[in-house]
Amino acid sequence: MSELHHECGVAAIYHLPNQPVSDLCPGGVDQASSLIPRMLLDMQNRGQLSAGMSRFHSNPKNGQLIDTYRELGSVQEAFRLSHAAKATSLMEKYAGPAAIGHVRYATCGKDDRSYAQPFEIHHFNMRKWFTFAFNGQLSNYPELAADILSDADNHLVRQTDTEVLMHEISRQLEVQDSDCLVEMIRNVSKRLDGAYSLAMLNAKGDMLIARDPLGIKPMCYAIQGAMFAAASESVALLNLGFKRSEIKSLKPGHAITIIDGEIKIEQFADNPGRAHCFFEWIYFANVASTLDDRGVYTTRTELGKELAAQEQQCGLIEIDEDTIVVPVPDTSKAAADSMAFHLKVPSREGLIRNRYSGRTFIESSQKTRAQRAKIKYTPLREVLEGKRVILVEDSIVRSTTMKALLRRIREEGGAREIHVRVACPPIVAPCYYGIDMSTIKQLFAPKFYPPGELLTDAIQDEMAASLECDSLRYLPIESVARAIGIPSDGLCQACINCDYPTPVGQKLYQLDHDSYRQEADPSVISESGDRAVDLGLS
Ligand code: SF4
Repeated sequence: MSELHHECGVAAIYHLPNQPVSDLCPGGVDQASSLIPRMLLDMQNRGQLSAGMSRFHSNPKNGQLIDTYRELGSVQEAFRLSHAAKATSLMEKYAGPAAIGHVRYATCGKDDRSYAQPFEIHHFNMRKWFTFAFNGQLSNYPELAADILSDADNHLVRQTDTEVLMHEISRQLEVQDSDCLVEMIRNVSKRLDGAYSLAMLNAKGDMLIARDPLGIKPMCYAIQGAMFAAASESVALLNLGFKRSEIKSLKPGHAITIIDGEIKIEQFADNPGRAHCFFEWIYFANVASTLDDRGVYTTRTELGKELAAQEQQCGLIEIDEDTIVVPVPDTSKAAADSMAFHLKVPSREGLIRNRYSGRTFIESSQKTRAQRAKIKYTPLREVLEGKRVILVEDSIVRSTTMKALLRRIREEGGAREIHVRVACPPIVAPCYYGIDMSTIKQLFAPKFYPPGELLTDAIQDEMAASLECDSLRYLPIESVARAIGIPSDGLCQACINCDYPTPVGQKLYQLDHDSYRQEADPSVISESGDRAVDLGLS
């Protein structure tokens, strides 16, 4: 599915001092930082707009205790990985025992290099000189920015919550007497609403890894001998050589600190809850990752099983020797294979994805998205011709990709019938936690299926007619928690049930919902105009 894009990925590595050199860091203690590009490569799925790293060295040749490198492009492009000499020289320049890294997809702010993370802020005091990277989105960013700018002596350079978060950290470090990074994040977090998994490193070599109080975004870590590493996804740690049994998810509202070589894990939020983004398992995360003890692949196969059970129950499609299941590559494959297995029909590669079609997110207009879909997938006529195709997709957001795809499957692939089955409920509400769907108006489903109504067969038939396919069925909301194996009150499902886990998220939704209704029917009076003023959003 190419209508949604990943939000960001964070990585951190530390070779602890005064310990034998770890097998996981064969280049030596100071080469720990050179493992960052490798970790970021495993999370390239989370963002291809830019990549970067900051390293700490206590005795650097250039005097920079922290030094930051960031560049636009994929990890391979940014770190010049296809050019051995350039990549090696870059890693020598940024060598150190501790480092953090980031891959970015822009959900907030522009596409230029100055928005790439990590963000570093210099200070002559080493505890106030820091760098950090984060994955998520501050829902109350406009409020925080307005607060900073309420002082006429203040100025913000960029339109991004990353800069605001940097100043929030900085301000807290200014007022706090101690070096305690947990105290810092405890106080900063009280002002934040949203999702934020972050990694921070200061010029004393102290590291902080933190996960927001609801654990909306993932954060995994591992400790093995002298090596510590953390990453948005477990696959990045597994492929570094950490034992599977040593890789854990950081609990919501908890922080890991490394100070003077000592690792501590502490709770920083008073009432941490759980609202893990369900979309991580359905679409965002690498299929090889395990997040919060639940495998992404396992979840997707369970979703396929749910699809098959639903199909057997409704009996809408006649299953014969011409019936095939076709996944929309690549994220729907596990669900499609599982559905096909349970229906006892073949799962065939009827669509070939062009892996070199470029970074679709850079061009974001609807027109370009549709054009991009055309070059992204090639229908295989030898698989599709004359077939009754059950097309499995992980989600439908705006529908532009899906419409273009269906046309090509029919016209170029020669499919006889196309039945779309979505391994997710309809997306009816925006995300304010770091996914690029910010208004109801952008979404496909709300045009047919107003929030709060029952998703009937008639509504889905209307949607199918609009997409020009023979039938369309979504999974019901209950399937999601069942497939992930986490109770629904431990998940954020706001974009499918309009129930946001944070107060500002809920207010933003109400504002957008009112304006959507008003646009559809100008006689509707806004229920939340006053809230717009409160939030500084009017
Ligand atoms: S609103 Fe949807 S996409 Fe956003 S964090 Fe919640 S579940 Fe994930």
